[in-house]
Amino acid sequence: MGTSPRSLLFGADFFGTQFPDGLTVPFMACYYSNGRTVTCGLWQLQAYIFPYYNYANGYDAIYSIAGIEKIAMVIALLISASVIFGKAVCGWICPFGLYMDILTRTRKTFRFRHSHISDKSNTKIAQLRYVALTSALIISVILSSYAIFGTELITGTTPAGPTGQSGYSGALNEPFCLICPMRPLCIIVECSVGLMKFSCITDIASESPLWISSFYISSLNLIILIIITILALIHRRIFCRICPVGGLISLFSTFTPFKQIVLTKLKKNEQKCTKCGICKRVCPTQATDVYEKKGGDVTESKCILCARCVETCPYKGALSIKFAEKTVIESRNWLE
Ligand code: SF4
Ligand code: SF4
Repeated sequence: MGTSPRSLLFGADFFGTQFPDGLTVPFMACYYSNGRTVTCGLWQLQAYIFPYYNYANGYDAIYSIAGIEKIAMVIALLISASVIFGKAVCGWICPFGLYMDILTRTRKTFRFRHSHISDKSNTKIAQLRYVALTSALIISVILSSYAIFGTELITGTTPAGPTGQSGYSGALNEPFCLICPMRPLCIIVECSVGLMKFSCITDIASESPLWISSFYISSLNLIILIIITILALIHRRIFCRICPVGGLISLFSTFTPFKQIVLTKLKKNEQKCTKCGICKRVCPTQATDVYEKKGGDVTESKCILCARCVETCPYKGALSIKFAEKTVIESRNWLE
C-alpha cells in the first residue's frame, strides 16, 4: 500500500518550512498528489490568500513566513517562468496537456474527425480562463476575509478555527481545486501505481457536504473530468482553451508589458507566407493570429507554442519558434 500525501512533503525536505509546499510551477503539478517539490501556482495563490498559518487546522505544514510574502514569491516565480518559456509549458510540459493529446490520438485511431468551434465562439470560450481565475481568487478573499480584515465580507463564510470562531469545515478553501479535472486524474494515476492509498479517494469526510465525497477528490472534480474527457474527444486540447493556469501564464507572456520581453515566441516571415491556411487548420487550440497577422511576433494568448503549425507549414522559414531571437525550429520546404 502506498503512502498518503501528508506523510510526504518533499518541499519541506528541500526548502524547509519557508516553502513546505514546494516551489510554484506554471503548470499543473497538483498539490493533492503524493508529496511535492513543485506545486500548481493557482493552488498556491488560493491557499496563501487564506492565511491558515494562523489556524492550526490540522495542517502539518508549519509556515515560517507570512502569506503576503509567499504570494509575492509565487507571482515572481510565475512571471519568471512565463517570461522565459511563455506558454510552451502548456504545449510541452503540462501533464493534462499530455492527457488531451492522448485523447486526440485515441480519436484519430478510430478515424473520427474533430469538430471545429467557430473563431468567434472560440475567443469567447478562451475568456472563460480569466472568469475562472478571477472567480477563484475573489472567492478565496471572501473566505479569508475574517482572517485578513478581521470582519466577514459575507456573513457565514469563515471556516471554523482554533481561535474560537465557529464556521464550516474549511473544505471550500482553494475553490478552483474543487472543480479542477487534473486533481482526480493525478490522484487516480498515483493510486494506480501504488504511490497513494486508495483510501485517499474512498474515505468519506463525514463533516463535508455530499458533493465533497472525500478530502482528495470531490464529486465535482470527477464530473468535470468526465465532461472534459468527452469534449476532448470532440475538440482538440479543449481544456487548454479554458485553463485558468494557462490564462495566468498568458497574462505574463502575451500581454503588454511582458510581451516585449518574453523569450519564447512564434514568429512569421510575411514575405515567405503564401496564405495557404494550413497553419490555421492544424492548430489544436484554433489560434488565429498565426494566419491572420501579417508577420513578426504572432504568439497570442491561445497559442501554446506546440509548433504544430511550424511543422506543417510548407514554406521554408515562413514560421519559426525563437528563443531569445535564436531559431529553435523553423518550417521546411516539404512540398519540393
Ligand atoms: S502554413 Fe505557412 S505559408 Fe501557409 S498560411 Fe500559415 S504561415 Fe503562411
Ligand atoms: S499557433 Fe502554432 S504553435 Fe501556437 S498553438 Fe497553434 S499550432 Fe501550436
